[in-house]
Amino acid sequence: MAEFDYDLFVIGGGSGGVRAARVAAATGARVALAEEYRMGGTCVIRGCVPKKLMVFASEYKEVFADARTYGWDVDECTFDWPSFRSHLHKELDRLESVYRSLLDKSGVEIFDSRVTLKDPHTVQFANGVTKSAKHILVATGGHPNRPDMENAHLGIVSNDIFLMEELPKSILIVGGGYIACEFACILNGLGVDVTLYYRGAQILRGFDDEARGLIADMMREKGIDIHVGTNIVEMAPDSDRPEAGPAGSDAAMGAPSEHGKGIASNPKSETDPAARGPVWVKSTNGHEQVFDHVMFATGRDPSSHDMGLEEVGVKLGRRGEIVVDEYSQTNVPSIYAIGDVTKRVELTPVAIREGMAFVETVFKGNPTPVDHELIPSAIFTQPEMGTIGMTEEDAREQEEIEVYSTSFRPMQTAFADRPDRVMMKLIVSKRTRVVLGCHIVSPNAGEMIQMAGIAVKMGATKEQFDQTCAVHPTISEELVTMRDPIRSS
Ligand code: NDP
Repeated sequence: MAEFDYDLFVIGGGSGGVRAARVAAATGARVALAEEYRMGGTCVIRGCVPKKLMVFASEYKEVFADARTYGWDVDECTFDWPSFRSHLHKELDRLESVYRSLLDKSGVEIFDSRVTLKDPHTVQFANGVTKSAKHILVATGGHPNRPDMENAHLGIVSNDIFLMEELPKSILIVGGGYIACEFACILNGLGVDVTLYYRGAQILRGFDDEARGLIADMMREKGIDIHVGTNIVEMAPDSDRPEAGPAGSDAAMGAPSEHGKGIASNPKSETDPAARGPVWVKSTNGHEQVFDHVMFATGRDPSSHDMGLEEVGVKLGRRGEIVVDEYSQTNVPSIYAIGDVTKRVELTPVAIREGMAFVETVFKGNPTPVDHELIPSAIFTQPEMGTIGMTEEDAREQEEIEVYSTSFRPMQTAFADRPDRVMMKLIVSKRTRVVLGCHIVSPNAGEMIQMAGIAVKMGATKEQFDQTCAVHPTISEELVTMRDPIRSS
């Protein structure tokens, strides 16, 4: 009789866990996977996929407007959220069943249940039943956090957006990262009045300064009210807002308020964002405003708590992330972890690669470290940003560089008399001529950076970019036609 029930037990049915389970099963291993919610995880059910479909939906407003300049007779077009939402959820159901059937066909045994770790080789189901495995792979992902402030439960998070019964008229988005900026653009495109508070000096911290500057300009141009250096100091249900006090009173000083506590005990408000109603907000600059919704896009935390990890000795980092080595192995040799729960690079394709490298290492006898260098990514703002490699600011710290950059009004929207601008930028090492970074702000920048990313990952030089003939007339041809550096240092 086998020593363990399975060779591999995967916890979490997101992109990373499902891929690892399937590929491991294909080697002949006996594999089981447990998922407590819906198969597909963040990417498929409440992240990349529904978000991108919402991006598509939100872009039609400008397409219809521009169509008139291109000679089309377009009647007034209106957006119907319930109709889109129902179609969206049908699509998510379809995708979930595809994930499930892929696992089935691979011979992976599926458990629709939460499990916790009992010892380094044993998981326990909610009903107390246990199963043993030679290896356990934790791929439980992450979840949106809320700031630690009174009444934060009044705010929705990105998960809730896809479940809204109706679109709000106004929303305040807090944060300046991927999720904040993407949803600001999406909701603005769908006709919602969007305000964004970011606590720092410029949104999209960590990305190339010029690129983030252009995105911020374009977001403002399209009607998003961005306030930098701004955060919430106080929030309450509009029906229960603090009385305006004299200067120096508790309310005026932003002291913690008792208001809105009744909402916390209303279980519906935890599941139905619409039940939360208008929210009164006071900001760090003293401004007060009421929004239909407040959305926190203030980062994501690893989903590692209450699952017995620490009890079996698995080391967690300061933010709850599972600490792993380059092979995704934890300090408990039979337990591995991949994806957002390890908080290395929180991107779906990275989780998938980590899953494949894990199988290569553990089930194919070919130790494969995960390559986290030069990962291209896109932010689906409007316009999008595609990026790979170093920002100008980081590269300059490292070595002498040349900066090639151009910004212009693209043909398609210039014809429709829109002020949209795009930007192409290459950061080049003076010493080796290697392109260290490529940053694109443009419609379809996500598609472009996937292609440019191949060249950058291969270590292409600026001269090799230039040897490639331009495709004319396109926006991306500028990537191979920028002759002179605009800066050199
Ligand atoms: P990010 O870490 O990208 O952004 C969080 C934002 O919230 C930052 O602007 C941060 O400010 C701000 N913030 C944090 N805490 C507070 C607070 N207490 N009060 C006010 N503001 C606060 O997280 P996201 O949630 O946007 O996304 C999580 C990850 O998911 C991303 O890093 C990315 O890896 C992934 N993702 C990828 C996407 C894609 O590939 N297109 C799309 C969506 C998500 P500060 O800058 O000052 O720290």
